[in-house]
Amino acid sequence: SDAITVGQLAQLLHKNSSEIIKFLFMMGNMSTINTVLSDEDIELICMNFNVEVHKEVVVDEDDIEEQLQNVEEDESKLVSRPPVVTIMGHVDHGKTTLLDTIRKANVTEGEFGGITQHIGAYQVSLKGRKVTFLDTPGHEAFTAMRARGAEVTDIVIIVVAADDGVMPQTKEAVDHAKAAGVPIVVAVNKIDKPGANPDRIMSEMSELGIMPEEWGGDTIFTQVSAKKGTGVPELLETMLLVADMQELKANPDTNASGTVIEAKLDKGRGPVATLLVQRGTLQTGDSVVVGTSYGRVRKMTNDRGMEIKHAEPSCPVEIIGLNEVPRAGDVFMSYDSYKKAAEIAGHRLDKQIEKERNSSSAMSLEDLAKKI
Ligand code: GDP
Ligand code: MG
Repeated sequence: SDAITVGQLAQLLHKNSSEIIKFLFMMGNMSTINTVLSDEDIELICMNFNVEVHKEVVVDEDDIEEQLQNVEEDESKLVSRPPVVTIMGHVDHGKTTLLDTIRKANVTEGEFGGITQHIGAYQVSLKGRKVTFLDTPGHEAFTAMRARGAEVTDIVIIVVAADDGVMPQTKEAVDHAKAAGVPIVVAVNKIDKPGANPDRIMSEMSELGIMPEEWGGDTIFTQVSAKKGTGVPELLETMLLVADMQELKANPDTNASGTVIEAKLDKGRGPVATLLVQRGTLQTGDSVVVGTSYGRVRKMTNDRGMEIKHAEPSCPVEIIGLNEVPRAGDVFMSYDSYKKAAEIAGHRLDKQIEKERNSSSAMSLEDLAKKI
């Protein structure tokens, strides 16, 4: 990429060169107006001056993305958006059954045919309001998303089987929700079973710091049978109340960005990715970058397999058109220009290759040291 000097960066950032020279000096680097800056220096300077960097300027696009996402939103453009809910819990405690029951009860007949479609995220209508559910394929994916700073969920429903109790993955779910700082609603499931003991679940969850409201805590516990549907409407009502307290909003009127929920290589269609739009509106034809993958959105389908042209905040969509399979948990950004998208992805690929080359040369040095 093109070399940028202190003087040029100062101009681009509308700062005085001396401010940048002073900052670099404090960081232990001597510089002049003609000093060529490293990528790292540019990142540091931009972070220090807290500027919304013009995309052409900066070399590290990941940082720009972060900065763009941290930019104060224009309050007047914020519109309320559907909550994004993740159902978590120990294996076999009934997550899939619960999600199926919710979908079946809240999908209109005409759409029913598409219910077998699996895209890892679903949107349903509850009392005329949309709610997005994420079907966590595994906690690894969720951990990966969090590790990359992707905050996708607004509420976590933790499913605990009343005949089994708190198990290792229940604890993990609690940890995830706590780390993400999102409210928890507990669904004590399988209450139709003879051995069901909801009180035991409440006390075991309390030991994890998840105290029921009726015991003076602030978490709502609901008793359900995901299989029979008992208590599910009450669970959903509770969930909507919790969502209302969060006043969830996003600006739909800008370039789309969000997170990859899952992705795979389809023999016929090529790379297929399920995206959760979190900001802006994604449209067919948009140019998208995810990590080192990029492309134009050739086709978008919703969770019922129907083709759609626009996807607003909190909407999950499956897209085709990327040149390679992205990682689940990666952030995507859309751009007006295809050329721009290709450039950004190409630049990232260069950086990645360079990184790999550096780490492999470090290894060979180590190997060398061992041999000596
Ligand atoms: P997951 O691993 O958490 O997704 O669990 P599943 O939804 O696959 O459920 C595991 C098993 O528990 C399946 O055989 C379900 O039919 C059963 N199951 C789920 N919910 C209930 C329930 O409310 N009552 C009863 N009796 N069985 C349930
Ligand atoms: Mg399941």
